[in-house]
Amino acid sequence: MKLPAGVNALKTGPSVVWKSTGKVQQTLVECVEISGKGLHSGEVARVRLWPELAGRGRYFCFGSQSIPACIEFAEETPLCTTLCKDGMRVRTVEHLLSALEAMGVDNCRIEIEGSNSTDNSVEVPILDGSAKEWVHAIEETGLRVASDQGGNPYDQLAPHLNEPVHVFRNDAFVAAFPSPSRQVTCGIDFPQVPAIGRQWFSSGLLDKTCYTREIASSRTFCVFEEVEKMQKAGLIKGGSKENAIVCSSTEGWLNPPLHFIDEPCRHKALDLIGDLSLFAASGSQGLPVAHIVAYKAGHALHADFVRRLSQVS
Ligand SMILES: [Zn+2]
Repeated sequence: MKLPAGVNALKTGPSVVWKSTGKVQQTLVECVEISGKGLHSGEVARVRLWPELAGRGRYFCFGSQSIPACIEFAEETPLCTTLCKDGMRVRTVEHLLSALEAMGVDNCRIEIEGSNSTDNSVEVPILDGSAKEWVHAIEETGLRVASDQGGNPYDQLAPHLNEPVHVFRNDAFVAAFPSPSRQVTCGIDFPQVPAIGRQWFSSGLLDKTCYTREIASSRTFCVFEEVEKMQKAGLIKGGSKENAIVCSSTEGWLNPPLHFIDEPCRHKALDLIGDLSLFAASGSQGLPVAHIVAYKAGHALHADFVRRLSQVS
């Protein structure tokens, strides 16, 4: 078994150490394709997930550009995670990346094409607002061992923590604590929207089964009274009651039923996993083997946390 070619790039620092998971890197058995509308742009895009060689990791192909799903290419944008390279942007990557990371698709070429080939920006389809369809597509084609051009499998590495790592903005934080297994705990507080209110979700041992059953089908949520404001800011043009759960501060949930009573908070866990997958490189896992606690966190703070991990690596 070989170590990934890019393993030298995975430096070991005081707080983060890369360890073998005892497994080899994986990829998809065959290409899968999904099309749909973007939440923010409202534009239709087609995504093809292709099997990829070991050590190549996950990356988007958009136009002539290849954009690695790594924190170096993440750009701060409101309400979604965007990857950008040389002016070419792929928006709302978090739900797809969450599914790929959690399901163990270490190497994947993600081809994405918008409806207008001259655009320099494209958005991953929102589908039902969750990661469910991505998970189904991955499960349908299945996983296989990824090997390099010489047919060699690569060891799968995962980041472990030697000491706690945290970031915060005002009273929001992401903190990760050393642990022999993965666990995510998320908290949110919406005092102005009583139907959401204060929620905490803790995954317990976070493995594929837990992700599929407890997290993947949790949908994007939004506050009805903020929708107009966001649309005026050019966001959620493709938003509808089919791709988000909408809550009014006075009338409660407008399109029930919820998949879980704490679905908004579970969706935060889904986003967290997707954003932290940006710590992956060369087919390693990105989500640290740790207990990660996020409170009132969003995409920008998740990205801060990954940058912090890179600093202490
Ligand atoms: Zn989300």
